[in-house]
Amino acid sequence: MEIKHDKVDAVIVGAGAGGGIVAKQLAVAGFKCVLLERGQWPDYDDSPNDELINQRTHAIRPLHFMDRRKFVDPEKPWITDSFLNAACVGSGTVTYGAMAWRFMPQDFKLHTLYPDIKDSALADWPITYDDLEPFYEQAEYEIGVSGDQSQNPFAPPRKKDFPMPAFEYNKEDREVLIPAIKRMGFHPYPIPMLRNSVRYNGRAACLRNHTCCGYICPCDAKNGTQNTVIPVAIKSGNCEVRTGSIAYEIVMEGRRAVGVR
Ligand SMILES: Cc1cc2nc3c(=O)[nH]c(=O)nc-3n(C[C@H](O)[C@H](O)[C@H](O)COP(=O)(O)OP(=O)(O)OC[C@H]3O[C@@H](n4cnc5c(N)ncnc54)[C@H](O)[C@@H]3O)c2cc1C
Repeated sequence: MEIKHDKVDAVIVGAGAGGGIVAKQLAVAGFKCVLLERGQWPDYDDSPNDELINQRTHAIRPLHFMDRRKFVDPEKPWITDSFLNAACVGSGTVTYGAMAWRFMPQDFKLHTLYPDIKDSALADWPITYDDLEPFYEQAEYEIGVSGDQSQNPFAPPRKKDFPMPAFEYNKEDREVLIPAIKRMGFHPYPIPMLRNSVRYNGRAACLRNHTCCGYICPCDAKNGTQNTVIPVAIKSGNCEVRTGSIAYEIVMEGRRAVGVR
């Protein structure tokens, strides 16, 4: 493999949700970085619409872009212990269901709200929703979220609308589900989705494929780090993505990380 940078400012292990965003933030700020990923770039052909080969069921045949599973029972190797994320560039953001929830303001002060729960480890966060709000907005615009704040009476406050309109309800929702939910006194609203309800950032609108959560999107309308922030990081010229690269050890000098093997 061609190694472009021998010494860099940062090595990021794992090109999933967190790693992809960190790589983009560092790279566009001018830091040289290497993004190590044990898997490969995702390819739709690796994840066809087969219910036995996907991220959502517990019966998963091994695929080259997925990590080897931890088997619970050696007699039943098709049963795995939990949902595990895809090992590929984008990782869980390639195969997730793509719901884009924000925390609520009260989530940051649960100890204050519920101080008297015996033996509880509830703690308040040292930051508030207002501190995070600009970063939620940045992520929603850079990665791409469809939603409609006006339909959710409980939504946390936001300064800007979602970058894309919400997905319209389908016929079953409109005619059966939503009226029934309203009759029960609840407040249905479209879930904010990391999928394109309209063409966005040069990629297509969602075709409403039935196999979405657990699968690679056939029309690239599901937004993950692999088709949003990681390409931006690469384009900056400061980020090199090395696929098929497993980090086995973080090399330390005292308390300082100085390398990765
Ligand atoms: C089926 C499913 C549906 C989901 N739906 C939603 C949803 O609707 N909304 C939502 O917000 N979240 C959802 N999630 C969760 C979301 O995908 C994860 O929370 C998120 O991907 C975690 O991000 P991460 O950066 O911690 O790890 P990951 O995204 O898992 O990334 C870790 C990466 O590191 C790589 N890696 C690990 N170890 C090494 C190593 N030693 N060397 C090199 N590379 C390494 C892995 O291959 C992987 O690519 C879903 C997850 C699944 C599985």
